[in-house]
Amino acid sequence: MPWDTLTDEQRELRDLVRTLTRERIAPRAAEIDASSEFPHDMVELFRENDILALPFEEEHGGTGTGTLMLLVAIEEISKACATTGLILAVQELGALALKLAGTDEQRARFLPRLASGEWLAAYALTEPGSGSDSAAMRTSARREGDEYVLDGGKRFITNAGVAGLYTVFAKTEPDAGHKGISCFVVEADAPGFSVGRIEPKLGIKGSTTGEVFFDGCRIPAENLVGEEGEGFAIAMRVLDRSRPGIAAQALGIAQGATDYALDYAKDRETMGKPIAQHQLVAAKLADMETATEAARGLLYRFGRMADDGVDGPELTKASAQAKLFCSDTAMWVATEAVQILGGYGYVKEYPVERMMRDAKITQIYEGTNEIQRIVIAREMVREARESLLAGVAG
Ligand SMILES: Cc1cc2nc3c(=O)[nH]c(=O)nc-3n(C[C@H](O)[C@H](O)[C@H](O)COP(=O)(O)OP(=O)(O)OC[C@H]3O[C@@H](n4cnc5c(N)ncnc54)[C@H](O)[C@@H]3O)c2cc1C
Repeated sequence: MPWDTLTDEQRELRDLVRTLTRERIAPRAAEIDASSEFPHDMVELFRENDILALPFEEEHGGTGTGTLMLLVAIEEISKACATTGLILAVQELGALALKLAGTDEQRARFLPRLASGEWLAAYALTEPGSGSDSAAMRTSARREGDEYVLDGGKRFITNAGVAGLYTVFAKTEPDAGHKGISCFVVEADAPGFSVGRIEPKLGIKGSTTGEVFFDGCRIPAENLVGEEGEGFAIAMRVLDRSRPGIAAQALGIAQGATDYALDYAKDRETMGKPIAQHQLVAAKLADMETATEAARGLLYRFGRMADDGVDGPELTKASAQAKLFCSDTAMWVATEAVQILGGYGYVKEYPVERMMRDAKITQIYEGTNEIQRIVIAREMVREARESLLAGVAG
C-alpha cells in the first residue's frame, strides 16, 4: 500500500467517497456542466450516504470526523466534478458562523437540518459594490421589537435558490464601518426574502450563483448570530476556515487533470512512441504531479492544525497559503493538461477543458488570490521571527 498519513478511519471514509465518486458522480460530471442545471440528484446521493454530515459534530447529527477528513472528501469529489465538490464545501461555509459564534440553542435548531441534508446552506457576504472590500456593504438590518428587518441585496451567492438557510451579513450601524456589521440566519421562507437572477458562468456550471434580495425581510431577533457589531469579525473567522474547502476543490481538479493527462499520454503515440516518453511532455507531467503533491502538503497541514485546535493569525496564514497555492496550481495544471491532450484537450469530448474552466473560479471566490497574498504578507510582517542574517551589514 502507498505511504499515507491518514488514519485507518480516514482512509476508510476516503475510500467510500472515492467509490461514490467513481461510480455515481464521475458519470454525471459532463452532463451537469453541459446542462448548467443544479444537480439535485447529487444532493440526494449525499443525503443517502451521510456526506453532508461531514462538516458537523455528532451532537448535531454529524460524523464528528473533523476538518482534515472534510477536506479530503471535497478533494476526492472534485477530482471528478468540481460543481458537486462545491456543494459539500458550501455546506461548511454556510454553517460556519453558527458553528463558531452561534448559541447552543441556535446550533441545536439549525445544524441538524444541515447535517442531514434536509437544507443546503449559503453564505451571503458579497454585494454589487462590495466584493474584496466587504466592509463597504449596504444591506441594512434594524431591530423592531422581537424582529430584525433587513433591506438590500447580495450578489454572486452560491446555492441561491436551492439553500434553505442563508448566513447573511448586514449593517446594523450604517456609519460604523466594519464595526457596524452583524450576522444573521435567514431562512429561505422568510417574508420579504427573494432570489433574483442566476448568473450564467464560465465554469462550475451546475452550481447556482445568484442575487438574493431583502425587501423589508423580517426575521426573529433570535436569528442574530453573535452580538450586534461582531459580524465582520465572524465573516473573517468563517473565511479562515472555509477557504481551505476551496483549496480542496482546487486540489481535486489538479489531481483529476494530472491523472487524466497521464493516462492519455501513456496511450497517445506520435513519432513512434507514447507522448509520455517525449521529454517535453514527461517534464510537464512531472511538474504537474510535484506541484499537486506540494499543494496537498499545505492543505493537509491546515486540516491537521484545525483539528489540533490552532486558531488566530497562524491559522489565518495557513488557510490563505493553502487557498493561494492549491488554486494557482489547479489553474496551471489544468491548462497543462489541455496542452498534453493537444486538440483533444480543447474539445468537450474530453474532461480537461471543463477542469480548466472550473479551476479559474478557485482563484477568485472566497477572497481573490490577490487578497490571499495581502493576508499572507500582512501576517509575515507581524510575525516576530529571527533571521540568521538580521543586522548583517551589506
Ligand atoms: C461563481 C461565484 C461564486 C461566489 N460565491 C459567493 C458566495 O457564496 N458568497 C459570497 O458572499 N460571495 C460569493 N462570490 C463573490 C466572490 O467572493 C467575489 O467575487 C470576490 O471576493 C471578488 O470580489 P469582486 O468580484 O467584487 O471583485 P473586486 O473586489 O472588485 O476585485 C476586482 C479585482 O481587483 C483586485 N483587488 C481588489 N482589491 C484589491 C486590493 N486591495 N489589492 C490588490 N488587488 C485588489 C481583485 O483581486 C480582483 O482581481 C462568488 C463569486 C463567484 C464568481
